[in-house]
Amino acid sequence: MVRHELLIGGRWQRGSGPGAMRDVVSPYDHRVVGQCSIAGADDVNAAVEAAVVGAETWRATPAHERFSILMRAADLADERAEEIAQTLSAENGKTLKEAQGEASRSGSIIRLAAFEGTQLYGESLPLDANPGTGLDKVGFTLRQPVGIVAAITPFNYPALLVNHKIAPALAAGNAVILKPASTTPLTALALAECFVDAGLPEGVLSVLTGPGGEIGDRLSSDQRIRKVSFTGSTAIGRHIAEVAGVKKLSLELGSSAPVVVLPDADIPLAAAAVAAGGYTNAGQVCISVQRVIVHEAVHGDFLDALRAEVAQHRTGDPSAAETTVGTLISEREATRVHESILRAVEDGASLELGGDRSGAIVEPAIVSGVDPHSRFAQEEIFGPAVAVTDAPDTATAIALANTTEYGLSAGIFTNDIDAAIRYMRDVDAGSIHINWTPLWRADLMPYGGLKASGIGKEGPRAAVEEMTEAKTVVLHGRPWRS
Ligand code: NAP
Repeated sequence: MVRHELLIGGRWQRGSGPGAMRDVVSPYDHRVVGQCSIAGADDVNAAVEAAVVGAETWRATPAHERFSILMRAADLADERAEEIAQTLSAENGKTLKEAQGEASRSGSIIRLAAFEGTQLYGESLPLDANPGTGLDKVGFTLRQPVGIVAAITPFNYPALLVNHKIAPALAAGNAVILKPASTTPLTALALAECFVDAGLPEGVLSVLTGPGGEIGDRLSSDQRIRKVSFTGSTAIGRHIAEVAGVKKLSLELGSSAPVVVLPDADIPLAAAAVAAGGYTNAGQVCISVQRVIVHEAVHGDFLDALRAEVAQHRTGDPSAAETTVGTLISEREATRVHESILRAVEDGASLELGGDRSGAIVEPAIVSGVDPHSRFAQEEIFGPAVAVTDAPDTATAIALANTTEYGLSAGIFTNDIDAAIRYMRDVDAGSIHINWTPLWRADLMPYGGLKASGIGKEGPRAAVEEMTEAKTVVLHGRPWRS
């Protein structure tokens, strides 16, 4: 049975928020999966006070000891991966297979982060190159943890994104207060339990479940917290940037990720990759394929191939082996996606496939003839629907990839090296994939968006860097040579 109390500085306790407990329900069949506590203002304050002490303890712990504890946490996350996957699929609605894939990555993310926490190198400064400065001074940089990190995570990858925040934050020597999405608290609590059971000292890790608006605002604006690491929508990211004050921010936000298909592309490969990249996790992925921009010379061939691939998807019970596309996170979200498909059709696009809704399930949809400047292309869909647009030439196709406010990830299918180079140079996105879709991530790579898709990078090395601060130290000797 998954824990349902709050974690305050390493101790499990009930929340003091209104109602104090809440049912966590499956979006597929509404069964109660578990319960979680609701944190109130007192709990937030208690977590921050515990973290003030925990940050001092953890910062004073040698890196090799932190490394050992994180390696134990990684082993526990591996041992418990199947149990965590069951919880994840039940509370989130993604297929059990997807949940198993996600939960199985926990151990390696934690290990990669643990290693990076042992690599806090500085640099020596050639101060004597400064005119007038002699050899009597020695300068170097020292890296240290920022102190307390508030980690705020979304529902769509409740294990992966929790690991990508708490593992590097802890590896770097910080205390962490995690606020997971209200719809998926149980996965976060199960992962936190791995760290607690691995032997984290008191005060170092807290998990506050409950309403994001209240807990999030308290954490983001608290000046004892030195860094907010947020993954979620661009709207909430903008709000956090307004209330945060002077502190470090990482904002991993929304997207409308493009794929360009040029005439020389491997069309079957492109169609199969889009049929995966647009519908994985029921399209609720920040790097999900949303816009496919196809050169008009291959538009018909590509659409035929894509229709055949997407028609193979099966929706239904997330725990059934034959289900390839699970539910959305809620019926409300499914209704929003369904309505945006209908609106696109009203605006002149054609529904090629799918689009019907039943409860929290939306049938995988292909919408063609989408105006690249319409809401369906410009706003994040975050559901199992792909917009296809044709472009008269390569230059226009590449230009259209850049036409939204977002810039998280982008892909192109082509064997033309000049077009690929132009794409990687001209498209403003945090990741560029040549001959694959934007939906691809290796956990060790730097990962983060440009433009309205965010600020900063995740991935163990980048996150440890962003969760530490550099001090410049100068040792002043007596002048001994002019
Ligand atoms: P969301 O509504 O923005 O919520 C994200 C988190 O923020 C949740 O824990 C939420 O808590 C909390 N929150 C709500 N109000 C807050 C406030 N005022 N201050 C601080 N935190 C607050 O996002 P979502 O619907 O869970 O996730 C989908 C979004 O995440 C999409 O836009 C997707 O593109 C984005 N995303 C981006 C990346 C990336 O790497 N760029 C990765 C995954 C997802 P409650 O759940 O309690 O409301």
